[in-house]
Amino acid sequence: MEPFFRALRHPQFTAQAAFLLLRVCALPKFNYTCRTLPPRLTSEACAAFDRLVLRSAVDILHLELDPLPAEVGTLLTLPMRHGGFGLRSMMDTASAAFLGSLATAARHLPSPELLRDTPLARIEHALSLCQVPRLRLPAANAFLACAARRPPKALQHVIASAIEDFRMWSVDSAPGLSSHLLSLRQTGASNWLTAIPSRPEHSLPNGDFYLAAQLRLRLTPCPSIYVTHCACGGELLPDHFMVCKHLRRRSVTVRHTILLQLLVSFLREAGLSPIPELRTDDGERPDLRLYLDGCLLMLDLSVTHPSSPSALRSGRGLRPLGAARQREYEKRQKYAELAALEDATFVPLVLESTGALAEDLRQFLHRISS
Ligand SMILES: [Zn+2]
Repeated sequence: MEPFFRALRHPQFTAQAAFLLLRVCALPKFNYTCRTLPPRLTSEACAAFDRLVLRSAVDILHLELDPLPAEVGTLLTLPMRHGGFGLRSMMDTASAAFLGSLATAARHLPSPELLRDTPLARIEHALSLCQVPRLRLPAANAFLACAARRPPKALQHVIASAIEDFRMWSVDSAPGLSSHLLSLRQTGASNWLTAIPSRPEHSLPNGDFYLAAQLRLRLTPCPSIYVTHCACGGELLPDHFMVCKHLRRRSVTVRHTILLQLLVSFLREAGLSPIPELRTDDGERPDLRLYLDGCLLMLDLSVTHPSSPSALRSGRGLRPLGAARQREYEKRQKYAELAALEDATFVPLVLESTGALAEDLRQFLHRISS
């Protein structure tokens, strides 16, 4: 299998394309083996496969970490719904795959007498690897009979998810990391990892992809042995450049301009005619006006950072989309009078810095696309 993994590191692959191939094409390669052989036989191969996957990920994402810290390994292997990178560990999956496959085949297997050579010990061993809270599985001696009577639905997925849920709780729960992971679990936060780079607007240059991966993994932007503090005096925490008072004004403006250009281009492609407003420092007017279904909408795009000191102090960062909801509220308050004056509906289009989409933005995108 090594040649496939080596091929992923070909310099003509962008990091975005190579990572997609790693997650979508390489990971399933070992699943059939795990479904058809008991974990006792596959464990060594699974461990080697996991090492191969993680080594490839570290290379593709330019992480320059040797050895790989345990918490980074955990975040890489956690599913995206938990804020990870979806590089599911085969060591964790092997028992789920074997039991899921046995359960699916149970009703087609010969009668129990014919199965006396079926090694009960193998089922017992596989079940022993699935001891996590809230997962109820039959005892080994009743496993096949139960599955034959009532075939369980998607047992591999159920077991693997329970194991991953359990592992998620082992990740450090410091407030900054909790709010970060909470935001990563919201809709939209993993889109940049799953987007197919089939057109320029869906493609990330390598440098941006590496930075986005470091931010998602909460790694410091510079190795701390060289620099510990920013010129602003702030400690160089993983997300410092999201809140740095020296950079903030300029970088926020640049980010806003890029996002707004993309939004305008997507709206025009959808056959709509957004009208950009003149940008002012105080933002007296929202970003765009748009006539939709005979109504005038006022749209304002903004990004908020859920792990900023103020969001953590107020507790907003520890609630799902708490920072985004607060920003929606502030924007609605700000433009309520203007919208009433011009007989328009104001729609705040808010994202969290992880990519998580606030409710009004999701509804707006749904409305545009339907
Ligand atoms: Zn700074």
